[in-house]
Amino acid sequence: MTDTPPAAARDAIDEDAAWAAFAARDRSSDGRFVVAVKTTGIYCRPSCAARRPRREHVRFLDNPQAARAEGFRACLRCLPDTVARDRQAVAAAIALIEAADAPPSLETLAAQVGYAPHHFHRLFKRATGVTPAAYARARRSARAAQALAAEPSITAALYEAGYAAPSRFYADSDQRLGMAPGQWRRGGEGVSVGWTIAPSPMGPLLVATTDRGIARIAFEEDEQALVRSLPAADIRPADEPRRDQITRIVTATDIPDPQLAEPARRTAFIEAVSRALLGA
Ligand SMILES: [Zn+2]
Repeated sequence: MTDTPPAAARDAIDEDAAWAAFAARDRSSDGRFVVAVKTTGIYCRPSCAARRPRREHVRFLDNPQAARAEGFRACLRCLPDTVARDRQAVAAAIALIEAADAPPSLETLAAQVGYAPHHFHRLFKRATGVTPAAYARARRSARAAQALAAEPSITAALYEAGYAAPSRFYADSDQRLGMAPGQWRRGGEGVSVGWTIAPSPMGPLLVATTDRGIARIAFEEDEQALVRSLPAADIRPADEPRRDQITRIVTATDIPDPQLAEPARRTAFIEAVSRALLGA
């Protein structure tokens, strides 16, 4: 068979590292090898959610072709044959969301990347940690914060950011700006903001909150940008319970697929943390 890898390539798998990745359901190992289970005759991607077999029942093979050549069948739960295609579809959907004026519907996105909506929703969430709709809202919120500073009026800013109607924007802004849009435009006048830097596997994350929501959340190592964007606000370090809560949430948040583009991973991670913080 022409698609069976040579023996030398199969020997290159580090079995201990592969077992560790499989035990940890490490998504970044998907596509690097497959795990064949001798007792069931099934092969899986390393991140498969199924129960872990005993190590002596497992074989690590280079790819699905190698597993099929040995008589194994693809797992119906993790669909190991579609790793590369799934990754491309998620990356393509992210590009579509980034380019769209307003958040595209799940049906539109799924159709454009060639998947059924329900299935695509699941695989997007598995790769990024958030749903396509949540990812799109994150982009819109970020654009709104920028537009509020740049546009001549709140109305101009909300349409520029992709909101279809002012009501939705005002409903969002409490949580997404931590204050009313007018207060935001006045540099946070009369607003108390508490900030902390939470360590995360993707770098230090600044999280600044008010009693209404999140005033700023970004991969930043200090509060300088926060102070610049809200010069009239009362800005001070968050109190200890708040700091502990934020650190717990950041620590518990899944890291997006390391093979996605870095800006998309950051957007997704920030949105997942934001949603946990806001209790969404
Ligand atoms: Zn599986």
